[in-house]
Amino acid sequence: MSNYTVPYGFCPVCAEPLETSTIDNHLRSSCPNCSYIDWGSFSLGVGGILWNEGKVLLVQRAHNPGKGIWTIPGGYVNQGESIGDAIVREMQEETGIKAKPLSIIALRDRPSNCSTEKHDTYIIFQMSLLEGTLHAQPEEVSNLGFFTFEECRTLKISSLTLSAIQACRSISQGLILNKDADLIGRLSTLYQISSNWSI
Ligand SMILES: [Zn+2]
Repeated sequence: MSNYTVPYGFCPVCAEPLETSTIDNHLRSSCPNCSYIDWGSFSLGVGGILWNEGKVLLVQRAHNPGKGIWTIPGGYVNQGESIGDAIVREMQEETGIKAKPLSIIALRDRPSNCSTEKHDTYIIFQMSLLEGTLHAQPEEVSNLGFFTFEECRTLKISSLTLSAIQACRSISQGLILNKDADLIGRLSTLYQISSNWSI
């Protein structure tokens, strides 16, 4: 998935040419015929850190952007999919390993002022191994394996990845799923810091 986007010239709902107007103190494209407003373009990605016996699971990217770089497994969240389900799916697809999310331990936010680039947010989970054997997805992964932190430092790896791995070398709790909260929306989930949850 590309991080680039093209602004609509016509309303995606009714096909009327869009107009530019000030809404909430921002210039936005909106439709003079229906209620459509272009609120911007966002993409949401997830990554998973899985430690097992003192080593962390990494994959080497098979294609650009970042071909040859080692990173944690992950990818983009599908429409209608929870972020937790997305990292479980991506990790299993890329590595053959089934794991469950423990907590959110990092978040990288990358806004954009440019109309052709999406605002990109990436959420990093700490994962727990369930089952599976290593099997690289050939379309996306050229190599994979478990590495000690010292080995990670010698690989071609981004400082974001290395920083997140270092942050959860020892068990770090982060944001955990609160299943007690009564949320609006059937698919809603809430991650928050630990507290005595009895609402
Ligand atoms: Zn319209």
